[in-house]
Amino acid sequence: MHYVSTRGAAPRASFDEVLLKGLATDGGLFVPETWPHFNASEIRALRGLDYPTLACRVIAPFLGNTISASDFEKLAVDAYDTFDNPAIVPLVQLDVNLWLMELFHGPTLAFKDVALQLLGRLFDHFLSSRGARVTIVGATSGDTGSAAIEACRDREAMDIVILHPHNRVSEVQRRQMTTVDAKNIHNVAVEGTFDDCQNLVKAMFNDQPFRNELRLAAVNSINWARIMAQTVYYFHAALALGAPDREVSFSVPTGNFGNVFAAYSAHKMGLPVARLYVGSNRNDILTRFLESGEMAVAPIEPSLSPSMDIQISSNFERLLFELHARDGNAVLADMIAFRDTGKFSVTAAMQAKVNSLFEGGRLDDAETTVSIEYFYKNTGVLLDPHTAIGAWIARGASRKTDVPVVSLATAHPAKFPQAVQLASGITPALPESLSDLYNRSERCTVLPNEVSAVQNFIRDKVGPTS
Ligand SMILES: *Cc1c(COP(=O)(O)O)cnc(C)c1O
Repeated sequence: MHYVSTRGAAPRASFDEVLLKGLATDGGLFVPETWPHFNASEIRALRGLDYPTLACRVIAPFLGNTISASDFEKLAVDAYDTFDNPAIVPLVQLDVNLWLMELFHGPTLAFKDVALQLLGRLFDHFLSSRGARVTIVGATSGDTGSAAIEACRDREAMDIVILHPHNRVSEVQRRQMTTVDAKNIHNVAVEGTFDDCQNLVKAMFNDQPFRNELRLAAVNSINWARIMAQTVYYFHAALALGAPDREVSFSVPTGNFGNVFAAYSAHKMGLPVARLYVGSNRNDILTRFLESGEMAVAPIEPSLSPSMDIQISSNFERLLFELHARDGNAVLADMIAFRDTGKFSVTAAMQAKVNSLFEGGRLDDAETTVSIEYFYKNTGVLLDPHTAIGAWIARGASRKTDVPVVSLATAHPAKFPQAVQLASGITPALPESLSDLYNRSERCTVLPNEVSAVQNFIRDKVGPTS
């Protein structure tokens, strides 16, 4: 298996190169050269497998011969051992045709753990076998930082430096990052905003001598390996509900389009998916695109579901590549128009193709609150604000069809206690593994919003890697 770039001008790459590089050299995103395909009897043979074994079977075609089956199996078993539920991604029934897939049983209580726990181990595997070390550097507005830190803690071949805006993340989010006690974890609170943090990271990646000296690497949401790892839970849920002999639909609260693109990937791999519902909050660029065929940026407005406060969904480029029949030049032209004018459009034929599978839905904060309240009153289940958006859309859809609709629970309600309390009157409790979070000691360095200050800090903590 090899990978190509969505912009068509980078050399083909193997899985290990795709994992370690992240972005292709032409600025595009890596996608499989051809989609692996499972026929109905091959899908039927996946029924009843435990999650790590299913992950090995579904992911195997993407790895080529870069890692042995037994080495990969060890990593998968180890990765999902960090989850606090034996089903890893349990399904809960909410209504006649409506199911919730809980993706928040990992160490940081959000679905990003499902992919990142595996990614940290894959990085370690490929780096150790080359005798190399890297320094992972990233900026976070909250959730991604803690998931990346948990994924890299105690990994031999990497240090990780996460920048967050000082006093601008919630206490749960900050503590999930700063209380991790491992010597390769370095937290920096920048005296500035999230945008300042992102600009510092970009500046460090653009400083070639520094980038080489510290061997900087990223685990951001455009890494193909994250999408690959996420395809597994779509198979898991569909198999439990009767696939391949019955179709299933999914409702996905969406930001960067990574999670719902993994659902699309599973569909391309042969899983019978009827519809994909794309949930947005008031930052509804994707919903507007699905209605009009035009992608047009608008200012970002803060909402109750901050991980979906996004205007540029980077993984959408992967779907665009498929819509353009894999013509990298056509993708590049759209991306240039988008950068220069803030918008681009697809043809009516392309829009019809998208709409044959995808459907958008949006909820503002008031509607999100109503959704949390409704599900709590009617099912006793507490939803976080991101999950509540997808679940409300799924509820509407599930009443119009007899195809089962699976709604993705992307975060534990205790990650967003204020919003949940306001809507339901209940303050959700942290799970056992984090119940002493407020008593743990924190490690974090406050730095000014200056590249040189952050670079000196990193040199001091990590030193030149060799
Ligand atoms: C990251 C995140 C999302 C958005 O997922 P994408 O893959 O970026 O579309 C939704 N909900 C929660 C809780 C998240 O942390």
